[in-house]
Amino acid sequence: MLRRGGSHEFFIEDSTALIQNRRGNIIGAVMVFRDTTTAQILSQQIVHLAQHDALTNLPNRVLLYDRIEQAILHAKRHGNKFAVLFIDVDKFKNINDSLGHGIGDKLLQLVASRLISCVRASDTVSRLGGDEFVILLSEIDQVEDAAQTAKKIMTELEAPHLVGQHKFFITASIGVSIYPGDGETSEDLLKNADTAMYQAKHQGRNNYQFFTSAMNVRAVERQVVEDNLRTAIERHELILHYQPKVKLDSQLITGAEALVRWMHPTWGMTWPVRFIHIAEDSGLIVPIGRWVMQEACRQVVEWQLAGLNPGTIAVNVSSLEFRNKNFVKGVSDILSQSGLAPQTLQLEITESVLMKDVSFSIEVLAKLKAIGVELAVDDFGTGYSSLSYLLNFPIDVLKIDQSFIKDIVTNKNNGFIVGAVIAMGKNLHHRVIAEGVEDDRQVEFLKEQGCEEGQGYYFSRPVNSDKFKQLLISGVTKPK
Ligand code: C2E
Ligand code: MG
Ligand code: MG
Repeated sequence: MLRRGGSHEFFIEDSTALIQNRRGNIIGAVMVFRDTTTAQILSQQIVHLAQHDALTNLPNRVLLYDRIEQAILHAKRHGNKFAVLFIDVDKFKNINDSLGHGIGDKLLQLVASRLISCVRASDTVSRLGGDEFVILLSEIDQVEDAAQTAKKIMTELEAPHLVGQHKFFITASIGVSIYPGDGETSEDLLKNADTAMYQAKHQGRNNYQFFTSAMNVRAVERQVVEDNLRTAIERHELILHYQPKVKLDSQLITGAEALVRWMHPTWGMTWPVRFIHIAEDSGLIVPIGRWVMQEACRQVVEWQLAGLNPGTIAVNVSSLEFRNKNFVKGVSDILSQSGLAPQTLQLEITESVLMKDVSFSIEVLAKLKAIGVELAVDDFGTGYSSLSYLLNFPIDVLKIDQSFIKDIVTNKNNGFIVGAVIAMGKNLHHRVIAEGVEDDRQVEFLKEQGCEEGQGYYFSRPVNSDKFKQLLISGVTKPK
């Protein structure tokens, strides 16, 4: 029973006991009224907490599933459509990692209120955790309505978000699934919207994608690759190929880059493009990277013992490895186990990995430098970073990304950029290596600009250890 008293509402529970005389006649009653407001509020709060996210007060996964089930029932009865939008804030992890969870949390609250402003009261905006939000558009007339809302969300999120003295410009990737068509259960609709969101990330973030069944094919492929990759090391299916780095003027080999290949029993030779990003997403890159480094160091020592001089051996290090707390110790362990001199090992770290959290990067690079290994910035020029950080990083080598080398001769801008990078690298006393050199016109251009080293199909494709040994014996590569 709910009673109103003045401006307050309170819950009353009543019970009545009859009073009888000796003959059994009712002569009165005792009525007990109990104020149960506190207990009621408490139980409402418990239900609320179980169904809402503590940070944003938005419905959580439990309530979202329930609302989607309701929407399915409603749509079945009335024949309407509805949409599930999976929204993930782009690069949110960077903000959390660099500025702390306090700021990250405030930003998520601002995002939550912007999202609410984009939809109708009858729709559900929920937070699944982290930077993942899901919106249920409970009734749409046509699929295009979901696209309109996705666009509106992107525009709405674009305006700067102010947290304390910080001003954030954020974007989001959105995946959309539609009922009917993209799933029969809340679980399938969410999973497919999530798959579409990943596709949006792959398209370069800051866009929305509708789920298509082709995406499921890709999701299955991912799963199959991941499952197979899990056992690739123990089954000895991974091998290394080596691509020489050469002096542009003499063609003399200065070193090699170790590149992993997967000899799958049924798929045959499988290239990194098919599995490295899956290894990164699943964490498998950590044991794979360790195996690559061990094998590369072992191989170089073997060549050295055979009286050959392979120069420095470069190994690629991915983001997850670089950020793994055991990474630095792993490097020094591998060096001492293999007996390779530290300055013979070069670690290639991409510019974007280094830029993710600059102060952390500086710390790790300093520790690596203390061990004595060489450090190279891989894919240089693709990480849209300010150049000033180069001064703070103890780097030995800049590897200009192959996309710039590709058309240096024909594309004036690229030629200009490459020239400027070479000049800058020289000023900072870094060695500059041009990646992806494919013809002699590029070699001439690079030499004119003062670049001394190159790597690319023009000199040699990556080759297996036997072939690389032959190259070492001859000492030079033979350009086409
Ligand atoms: P990356 O480190 O930039 O390696 C250079 C890639 O360019 C290699 O591709 C190489 O074969 C290719 N390449 C070399 N010269 C030329 C050329 O003249 N023209 C063209 N078009 N391409 C050339 P690959 O072996 O397929 O490796 C691709 C990427 O996979 C590597 O890019 C690297 O990021 C990653 N990767 C390869 N092995 C490993 C590994 O052991 N660990 C990690 N974390 N990543 C690896
Ligand atoms: Mg590399
Ligand atoms: Mg590269």
